[in-house]
Amino acid sequence: MGWFKKKKKQDQESGNTPKPLATQTESAENCHSSADVPARDYRDDGPSDKDAGRKKNKGFFQQLKRGLSKTRDVLTADLEELFRGKKKLDADLLEEIEELLITSDMGVVTTMTLIDRISKKSGKISSAKELKSVLKAEVCALMAKPAEVPVPARKPHVIMVVGVNGVGKTTTIGKLAARFAGEGKGVIIGAADTFRAAAVEQLTIWAERAGVDIVKHRDNADPAAVAFDSIDAATARGKDIVIIDTAGRLHTKVNLMEELKKIKRAIAKKIPDAPHDIYLVIDATTGQNALSQAKLFHDSMGITGLILTKLDGTAKGGVVVGICNTLDIPLTYIGVGEGVNDLQNFDPEQYAEALFS
Ligand code: GDP
Ligand code: MG
Repeated sequence: MGWFKKKKKQDQESGNTPKPLATQTESAENCHSSADVPARDYRDDGPSDKDAGRKKNKGFFQQLKRGLSKTRDVLTADLEELFRGKKKLDADLLEEIEELLITSDMGVVTTMTLIDRISKKSGKISSAKELKSVLKAEVCALMAKPAEVPVPARKPHVIMVVGVNGVGKTTTIGKLAARFAGEGKGVIIGAADTFRAAAVEQLTIWAERAGVDIVKHRDNADPAAVAFDSIDAATARGKDIVIIDTAGRLHTKVNLMEELKKIKRAIAKKIPDAPHDIYLVIDATTGQNALSQAKLFHDSMGITGLILTKLDGTAKGGVVVGICNTLDIPLTYIGVGEGVNDLQNFDPEQYAEALFS
């Protein structure tokens, strides 16, 4: 018996068969994904520079496709293989597809929802290409609406970045700072991960690369004080955006969540409605662990957006589908590499296209 069948049997025995969530989009009608349709233009190209915008979109899409190549290899090569010699989608094939989706880390609930939807359309599926096209549309529908990328409403807009050690917080802050600076915004980053000298050095290099200011204290300084000073500096220098880096693990016995809450309170003392955004960075290679991390941080901190990194290094890119389908927190950005430009706004339609094309 396959892993998934076993799991289903266990779930049935324990009476906890996962149910599709009420929040799921009911149909794939709004997703225009199809194996034959080229990626549409995703970015905000104005009427005057449509061609330039189109080119840029194509670049983003190719970059995303490259990043997701490991996941796509698993999903699409195996789908082709499974369909070889068959003319229709039968129960055996559905079972194999279930295992494939589980391997890409979509999660059990999401996989079952997808299988349910595909099996309802099985009459229309007689080739791997048709199957991919249906999967693409259904996956897109499950990821629903893209998160709004925030436009700073007031100065300074304060962003706090949290997450466990090694997920890519500092790198992502560097990429974000470079992007905002490139849009002409004044940016300051606050080095509130004060527990390792190396962390501050790493952030300093990113600040230089992005051409933005950095506020830092000595090692082991109080992270809340760094955040406090960063906002002061931003106000004094008329900056638009403050991004606060934080630690993911503490060398002291202080609870990480308590320390993060303390930083949040320090920020609110300066600007009552700040931090305006709290981004949780999650490493996609951790697969289903990502979901439990998100729940943990959200309960303590009130996360406004997720950033999923390292999609380029993993065959578990399906985790994005599971996360969007299960959590109420919007997925704002995705990281597809270590370079300064390897950060994208998350776009469900583009993502589904890159997974199955
Ligand atoms: P932090 O501890 O959360 O601040 O994580 P870092 O920013 O120091 O990143 C940890 C490692 O992950 C570094 O080697 C980064 O280069 C790498 N990293 C971060 N984001 C990405 C990504 O999107 N793709 C890949 N391949 N590596 C990444
Ligand atoms: Mg760091």
